[in-house]
Amino acid sequence: MRRKLAAGNWKMNGTSANLAQIEALKDAHVGALSEILIAPPTSLLHRASVVAENGPVALAAQDCHKGESGAHTGDVSADMLKDAGATYVILGHSERRADHDEHDEDVRAKARGALKAGLRVIICMGEELEEREADNTLDIIAGQLAGSIPDDIDGENLVVAYEPIWAIGTGKVPSVAQITEVHDFIRARLEHRFGLKIARAVRLLYGGSVKASNATEIFAIENVDGALVGGASLKAEDFSPIITALDKS
Ligand code: PEP
Repeated sequence: MRRKLAAGNWKMNGTSANLAQIEALKDAHVGALSEILIAPPTSLLHRASVVAENGPVALAAQDCHKGESGAHTGDVSADMLKDAGATYVILGHSERRADHDEHDEDVRAKARGALKAGLRVIICMGEELEEREADNTLDIIAGQLAGSIPDDIDGENLVVAYEPIWAIGTGKVPSVAQITEVHDFIRARLEHRFGLKIARAVRLLYGGSVKASNATEIFAIENVDGALVGGASLKAEDFSPIITALDKS
């Protein structure tokens, strides 16, 4: 059985005052069935891990360098993030791919570094609107899966987040049929490459304008094991009902 996962990505938002949101989630979800994850900015990671200690909320980083250490001014390695309290790292988010010109091979190298450091990886992928309209979604996903995911995964240490770029922060959400098609496709491709046992252990998250009002419908989809949530994860009062919907799914 895969444990459901509700992951909140704060992106470049949050200072000390926002740690209260983690405290609120911690209090509201004692005994949660789902795994709850917050990815605060790196500046808050350690303090967030102290606040979250002995509670249901775990911490993720939003990116890492592919190497262990060295002359890379401004970069942070997976070992350092783990030391600061992260147990997961989000990699290949479309904003990193766009803002930092990250390609599948960069994401794969970072994932290898993160796995080696003992972090679980959440690898993001998704199509542009023009690619969907041209009926290229599955080809794009196949390429990103093949290029971004390293060979040395055991299933439990990998989470794949399907995030159509046109749905991120826009309020637009794909239909249930569209999400189902992509998630079934990802599971099948993982099985083809890694075998049934590993493929069945990988959690598949949907991401893109998830809110309390659409969460129940999305979580009812068979191959959706949770969500990667941006905007609606910033406040506990918005994220909490999403976690509750996942617990009930
Ligand atoms: C995201 O950026 O990963 C995301 C899903 O954002 P939002 O929920 O705000 O669409």
